Amino acid sequence: MKTKLKLLLIVAGMLLALTTATIINVSLNFRDYSIKSATEKAKLTATIVKDGLTAHMVNNIMDKREYFMHQISANNKEVKALWLARSENVIQQYGEGSNDETVRDAIDSKVLESGETIKKVIENAQETTLRVTIPYKATVDNGNTNCLSCHDVKRGATLGVISMEFDISDMRTSGMITILKILGINLLFLIIVLFLLNHYINPFMQLFSTMQNGIKKAYSGDFSHKFETTLGGDAKKITEQLNTLFTKMQKTFGEIKLNLGTFIPQGSVSSADPLHEASTIIHELSDVYKFKKTIELDANKSEVYNRIIDIFKLKYNLRCFSFYELNNRTNERNLFYATDEEALICQEKINKDAQLCRANRTKSVTVSTEFPNLCQACLSEKQNYVCIPFVINNDVSLTVSFIGEDENEVERIKSCVNSIKHYFEAAKPVIESQILMEKLTDTSLRDGMTGLYNRRFLEELIDQVMHQANRLKETYSVMMLDVDFFKKVNDTYGHDVGDRVIIAIGKLLQESIRESDLAIRYGGEEFVVMLHNASEEGTEEIAKKIHSKFSELVFDVGVGETLRKTLSIGISMFPKDGDTIWKCIKFADTALYVAKTTGRNKIVHYDKKMAESQDLR
Ligand code: GH3
Ligand code: MG
Ligand code: MG
Repeated sequence: MKTKLKLLLIVAGMLLALTTATIINVSLNFRDYSIKSATEKAKLTATIVKDGLTAHMVNNIMDKREYFMHQISANNKEVKALWLARSENVIQQYGEGSNDETVRDAIDSKVLESGETIKKVIENAQETTLRVTIPYKATVDNGNTNCLSCHDVKRGATLGVISMEFDISDMRTSGMITILKILGINLLFLIIVLFLLNHYINPFMQLFSTMQNGIKKAYSGDFSHKFETTLGGDAKKITEQLNTLFTKMQKTFGEIKLNLGTFIPQGSVSSADPLHEASTIIHELSDVYKFKKTIELDANKSEVYNRIIDIFKLKYNLRCFSFYELNNRTNERNLFYATDEEALICQEKINKDAQLCRANRTKSVTVSTEFPNLCQACLSEKQNYVCIPFVINNDVSLTVSFIGEDENEVERIKSCVNSIKHYFEAAKPVIESQILMEKLTDTSLRDGMTGLYNRRFLEELIDQVMHQANRLKETYSVMMLDVDFFKKVNDTYGHDVGDRVIIAIGKLLQESIRESDLAIRYGGEEFVVMLHNASEEGTEEIAKKIHSKFSELVFDVGVGETLRKTLSIGISMFPKDGDTIWKCIKFADTALYVAKTTGRNKIVHYDKKMAESQDLR
């Protein structure tokens, strides 16, 4: 609306300036013209008077001149006054003359003296008068007039003056009327122009206003504004395009916000401008994604920890901190890294009992400014710190203590906490699988005779394997294998032969499965095989392969004799048959029991009915 007022004021100002210029021009011209025409009249009248007086003089009827003068005034109503004034020469020669022929004012005297015409406009509130005083000079006109014949003066001397006052008020009045007419016409024109401008500008102004409102809302992430206009043509087109754009933006922006919200909790990046917030989140996600891609290829968890430390230093510019790894089972804490001595702010006893660490015990970020002497296991009550705990799994937790120089720095560190947590979240599955890998290579979890994993491995790792399987929607086919009538081998050929059979099974199992599958020596001559992401058909195929290959194995028992054995196999599927791996191991055992009790040397798949049977529970 301000713009509209401005525009109208500019137009009005310009028109008023034009009107004023026109009026000044017209009035000046009019005045000029009035004076010019009155001057002409005065000159004419003066000539008539001069000629008339000369005629009176020549005809020796000078005594009638007053009548003549009166007649001139009487017949010309514009002539307000008409008088003569004699020069000193004439007065000396002929006397002062009538009363009216004396010098009346300074103008008369000046013209008498100079012999030059004076013209002057006298204006006051009531009237405008043109005063003209013309010299009457002694001339010699070939034969007709010879002033010198009567006047005892030199040729060209001033004999007297003829003074006249013309009333030119009428001209001024008609000038004023003309000016008023111009003013009236211009004002009318101005009103019409302003009205038309207002009429045509208003819809544009409304369009601007709606555009302004819409854009203002868009700044705060609200694209719901509907643009409207009564205008057609381009304005209508722009309005439609804006509406389409805003609808699209609202939809897309809503989706982006929703999607981003699933990655990073809303409010974790605070900004009054949602577009800026989204851009910051995308940057953050991109950084975290790059970090995740990098650590996935790191060789061990120490490399990952070092990368997190680099992030603290390079991204957040954190200069003083200590990084700890905690063993959740033994409750011990180990320092992995400290920037310097100053970063070590915890009492020694925390390393033996990590529960003394407030952040670790409460599983929440601990900030020194929240309460005096907040963590009582800190070396000094005056320490400024922000401690972030992070649980990786049942075995391992991490704790980082960031130390600030003052409370302001604590505030700055606090503002990084949410972002730091994103990196921990991204690193968690990678660290988890690295811990798993460490365990998989741990010899205490392997069976010395076959090189397969042992039962302890299963007990320690199964929860983790299952947790990962659930998270990544993985499946496992669980096979339980047992040699038929194995006791007989021992009894007949001795334990050595029995051991060779067990070793042969171990070799056969390892040859038959992939790297992502697990083969475990579960008991004496009992084995568990877990096939990763295998279909039922694939599982059946591998089971058959193991089953037949084992039956083909020929064991030399000495003195020319050989031995061949068979296997019984029970199979269950995780999570189809049971929602935990332990249940599935139990169901595979049930299926194995069925195989044993129904003739041995066969593969049996678990069926719910088996569990319902009283004998098999
Ligand atoms: P079934 O067909 O019902 O399985 O009959 P089985 O004789 O095989 O019975 P079971 O599976 O219960 O027999 C297990 C035997 O395996 C008992 C034990 O003497 C023997 N055994 C366990 N560990 C070892 C080992 O490390 N070496 C040897 N040689 N024998 C073992
Ligand atoms: Mg057996
Ligand atoms: Mg057995």
